[in-house]
Amino acid sequence: MPRTTPPRPADVEEPFPGLAEFRRTATRLHPRPGDPKTQDSSVAGPMLWPADEPWPMCTAVHPKGTGHLLADVRLARRIHAASEGRKKTEEEIALLGALRNGLHDPGIGDADPIPMLAGAQLWARDIPDLTGPEGYDLLQVFWCPFEAHGPDASVDVVLKWRRSQDIGAVLGEQPEPLVVGSPECVPQPCELHPEQIVEHEYLGLLPEDLQEAVATWEEQLLDEDEEEAEADFPTEYSSDLSLAPGWKVGGFATWHLTDPRTVDCTVCGTSMPPLLTAHHVEWDPASESWAPPEDRRPDLYRHVITPTGVYLGRGYLRIHTCPTDAFHPHQLSLQ
Ligand SMILES: [Zn+2]
Ligand SMILES: [Zn+2]
Repeated sequence: MPRTTPPRPADVEEPFPGLAEFRRTATRLHPRPGDPKTQDSSVAGPMLWPADEPWPMCTAVHPKGTGHLLADVRLARRIHAASEGRKKTEEEIALLGALRNGLHDPGIGDADPIPMLAGAQLWARDIPDLTGPEGYDLLQVFWCPFEAHGPDASVDVVLKWRRSQDIGAVLGEQPEPLVVGSPECVPQPCELHPEQIVEHEYLGLLPEDLQEAVATWEEQLLDEDEEEAEADFPTEYSSDLSLAPGWKVGGFATWHLTDPRTVDCTVCGTSMPPLLTAHHVEWDPASESWAPPEDRRPDLYRHVITPTGVYLGRGYLRIHTCPTDAFHPHQLSLQ
């Protein structure tokens, strides 16, 4: 079932034609729990990975034996999904109660390699904003299941761009880590329902006169429209008109927790926009205007609000790639 973003509550380029300069498309991925196949675009689905190629491994030095068993994370999710809308049975409560966060692999050393998790597989044919190297039609995204890398203590990400016609025999059983740092590092397999939408630059990165004009316009909306004035979350540029919530490819980045910064390529200095954003919710009460009508059913709540189960950074992990050469090293930004 396709997902459709409702029209924006206002055409913000009408009062502010100058915003056209700060417009960019994004593709909302609309991940929903499902059973994706090797040939599909997916979150955490099986990868179209060549049988004769080594699987991406984390070789960075950090503790790898303490955390949650990956199998336990999946068991807990199955129990929560199966018991949705009813009380859990005593057996389910006992099973959940027995799951432990602790040392599960005492034999593993900090420098030992562990398989990375399959994060996302994205086809250019499905995702119009997936811009990669010329001739490459598939992006595979992996991450280490431990938030233990770099100054931000984030996951480490590996990107693999592919020409799908070069892939011969496909790997059957895909390697997985035994232990993960936290359940929130583990994506739930999701099918994608990509939809291209229009975004506008993060408010704090617009020219100052435009920022002020937008703020004045928001106040006027409140003064002139009784419905807006009484709404819990009145229409706002930031939440309704600029950036789409949820997982997406392309578009702009929010900087609501830190000062905005540019992410520049370490090789050629080009400013790197976010290629993939992994957001912990698909929308929240303030950004509910982005909720597709297909999903507005209370019984679907968990499946549509937190479909992937992923919570990285403080809710947002973004992977930035170089528009000049997608093989230049990517960078991460977190919010
Ligand atoms: Zn690692
Ligand atoms: Zn570059």
